[in-house]
Amino acid sequence: MQNRKKGLKISDHPHLAMPKKVVTVNRFKCAYCGACVSVCKFNANELIETFLQIYEDKCTGCGICVKVCPMGALEVIKCTT
Ligand code: SF4
Ligand code: SF4
Repeated sequence: MQNRKKGLKISDHPHLAMPKKVVTVNRFKCAYCGACVSVCKFNANELIETFLQIYEDKCTGCGICVKVCPMGALEVIKCTT
């Protein structure tokens, strides 16, 4: 009851909050094709010449990019920070 008054959400509770997930790239497998960039709706990745930048603050860990990567270079992991 008190929590409702303060407007707290379930995700505010330290034991109930889900760990954030983000995608990570294996740079040895990546072929810089850009397929993952074109499907990301959150602008969470960017191909900068021969470097795939992942913006963890924007990434939702939805995994759509993982499914389109022809090299199997992407993986969704639990964020430790
Ligand atoms: S996991 Fe989802 S949000 Fe994150 S980079 Fe891939 S498509 Fe974008
Ligand atoms: S789809 Fe895969 S191979 Fe292509 S840029 Fe993204 S991570 Fe690299």
